This record gives sequence, C-alpha cells and structure tokens, in this order.
Amino acid sequence: MDDINIDVLIIGAGPSGSVAAAYLFNQGISIKVIEKSKFPRFVIGESLIPRCMDHFDEVGLLDVIKQGDFEVKTGARFIKGDAVCEFDFKEKFTEGWNWTWQLPRADFDKLLTDELTRKGVNIAFENEVIDVIFNTDGSSKTTVISKDGEESSIYAKYIIDSSGYGRVLPRLLDLEKPSSLAKHASIFTHVNDSNRPEGKEGTLITFDIINTESWFWVIPFSNGVTSIGFVGPIDFIESFKGSTTERIREMLKLSKHYSERFEDVPLLFEPKEIKNYSKAVKQLYGKGYALTGNSAEFLDPVFSSGVTFATESALLASKLIVKELNNESVNWETEYSDYIKYGVSVFSTYVKEWYTGNLQTLFFHQPENKANKEQICAVLAGYVWDKSNPFVSKHDRLVKSLAYLIDMEKSNDSKST
Ligand code: FAD
Repeated sequence: MDDINIDVLIIGAGPSGSVAAAYLFNQGISIKVIEKSKFPRFVIGESLIPRCMDHFDEVGLLDVIKQGDFEVKTGARFIKGDAVCEFDFKEKFTEGWNWTWQLPRADFDKLLTDELTRKGVNIAFENEVIDVIFNTDGSSKTTVISKDGEESSIYAKYIIDSSGYGRVLPRLLDLEKPSSLAKHASIFTHVNDSNRPEGKEGTLITFDIINTESWFWVIPFSNGVTSIGFVGPIDFIESFKGSTTERIREMLKLSKHYSERFEDVPLLFEPKEIKNYSKAVKQLYGKGYALTGNSAEFLDPVFSSGVTFATESALLASKLIVKELNNESVNWETEYSDYIKYGVSVFSTYVKEWYTGNLQTLFFHQPENKANKEQICAVLAGYVWDKSNPFVSKHDRLVKSLAYLIDMEKSNDSKST
C-alpha cells in the first residue's frame, strides 16, 4: 500500500467503522478504512436492538441490510423456570423503530463492507494498524502493516478508532481503565438447529435464566443456524471441565426449556470462550481522535446493546469531525463524551441490576405493570437518551426501589398467609 494523506482514517470495519465510513463518505470527506481481517470473519454480537436502525437508515445502509434476508427481531423473551416475560418493541414508551434483526455477524459485516466498497469507499482488508504518532495539532501518522509484512504510512487529520477488541488507541495511548462491572465470561457457538419448532417458538430470541447471575442465549438465524451461548461469573463458567464442547454440552442440561432441542444438534464450530469482556477507557476522545464502539466501552451482552453503541458513537463522532472540518467549533466533552457516557450509564445500571436480581424481580412480577413495562421496553430497544422516560432519567434509583417494593409486598403477603 502506498503512503497516503487523508482527512479521516477509520480503524476497523465492524458496524462501528462501517457506519462512520458511510457517513463521512456521503459527506464527501476523504477517508480510508484499515481492517486487520479478511471478511467474512466471525465476530460475536448477533442480536441487534431497534435504535441502531436509525443509524443504518441515516447513513444509507438500511436498504442493503434488508436484502440480507435476516431474521426479523420484534422483541425479546426472558425465561426463569416456568415464568416468562416477553417484550414486544411495538409496546414501548419512546417512539422509534419497532423491530430490527438477529443475524450472523460474519454475513452482516461482509454485506455492509461490500456495499461500502461498491459505493467507492476505500477499505484495505488484511492490513493492521500497528502504530500511531500524533502531532500537537491532532494530525497523525499511522503505520500499517499488510499481511505480506509491507509497511506503509497514513497521514490523517483525524482517526476514528473502531477497532473493537483490537482497542488500538486505548492500548497505544494508555487509555485503558478497569470496567466497573463484575468479571464475567461467556462460552458460545452456532448449531445446526435441526429440532427447531415451527412458528414463533422456533425463531424467538430468548434469554433463559440459569441462576441470578448466569444465563443462556438462543438467537435463531433465518438460515436455520442458531447461536447459543452461556454467560456468567468466571468461576461459574470455569466450574465446567473439559473442552469447550464438553462444557457447553454440560451447561445445556441446565436449561429446562432448551436442553431437549439442543441435546444432539451438531455444533458448527468448537465453542469459543471470552473472559472478562467488559471494557472501559479513561477518555473517549482526544485531539485528533475519537474512540467508538467496543474500542471505547463494552458492558455486557445481556441487553444486546453493543452494536447499537458502536453505531451511535460512530455516527456522532463522524458528525462532529465533519463540523470541525467545516471550521465549526465542537465541544467534544459535552457533545460527544457526556452524551455517550449518559447512554452507557443507563445501560450500565440495567446490567448491574440484572445481576443483582432486581431487574429480574421487575420482569417476572405479576400482575404486570403495563406502563413500567413499556418504559423498560424502550430502554431495551436502545432509546436510552429519552429523558421523558422515568426508567431513563431515574435509572439509578427506579429499578432498585421498585424491586424493593415488590420484595416487601411479597414478604408481607407470605407473613399474612
Ligand atoms: P467489531 O465488530 O469487533 O469490529 C472491530 C474490527 O476492527 C474487527 O473487524 C477487527 O478485525 C478490526 N481491528 C482490530 N484491530 C485492528 C487493527 N489493529 N488494525 C485494523 N483493524 C483492526 N452486541 C450486540 O449488539 N448484540 C449481542 O447480542 C451481543 N452479544 C455479545 C456476546 C458476547 C459474549 C460479547 C463479548 C459481546 C457481545 N456483543 C453484542 C458486543 C458486540 O460484539 C460488539 O459490541 C460489537 O461487535 C462492536 O462493534 P465494533 O464495530 O465496535 O467492533
């Protein structure tokens, strides 16, 4: 690859990098995307939430995704023993998309990058960013190495780091910080879902609760393959012995609802294990760069917020860069960092309260409170900046206090019987 001079370098071509690239390209900004892998490549993160539809729509990628014929996701089901709580995105407090997709990311990410390439975006696959040097004005020199070992330089005014778990700038600039979330792990694979039931039961995305801190996901795809995975504290996941295949087969026995369906189905690859997946950084931007997607923060898979944060942050960072390139002033602290951190803090509360059990208390409480359910549903759909929703604006208190009231009510009931 020859040395080049551009406005914006994007590191990584996952959903975050693709949305950034699409927006900037549409605005006529000179960009280049550097992607370490060859696509299609496996990556986890297969259940989307409706908010990301706004992003794909705005950057002109929605029509091509529709052609992917992916499984439509209209809500999510949570199961705890015999109790079931189902959310339908149609019944949510905040206006916005009622549906999205559940999809194999290898196909999805390839579809997005194929479309970008077709439009004329320059993506260099199988090239890895190995070093970045910033000048005092924020411009930078990035060193890229090709799969053949050939090095080249990219001179850019801005860098959008969308490198996911590659975490290029957090590593190079020492921006890593420990996550405030508990240390969890996950084991997952894809199966040939040969026992898939007909109708909605077969295609419903489900979170099956094994115990308060451990759960199992079932994400059926339109191609007959289903993603399955277990999540829990590291010591729970490590308490199963043997190969990851042996461990996931043992774990499957814990799911009353699904053990039969998945008992003998062929696993399509040796299950993968990720430990300590929650990530955080000291800052989300600096002079000449912004961190987006997983390169910035990742919380937890439980509410499928990863891709949506990746696209939300990518789109916002791209817009702010365009403003600056047009000589408009930008306050990155308030316009970028505070905004993104607000959404992260809302989801962070839900993740924490999921693992304390408080959110599960609300989900499975009967009779259902319709208003509360619609407000929680809006959060689960990714509309976490709508402060007219009390489950957003009072997120840090509401879940906890309602769960407390429900528990009090239950203990009073049991005393009086
Ligand atoms: P990625 O999709 O990871 O893309 C980053 C890209 O950068 C990669 O293609 C990589 O090859 C490239 N790259 C890395 N380093 C370099 C380098 N040095 N040079 C050039 N390129 C580089 N999210 C959801 O929305 N729904 C879910 O159901 C969900 N489930 C999850 C389950 C688990 C167990 C985990 C751990 C995460 C889950 N996530 C989920 C989160 C999801 O995986 C991520 O949030 C999402 O993929 C982030 O997108 P991204 O574009 O930031 O990064």
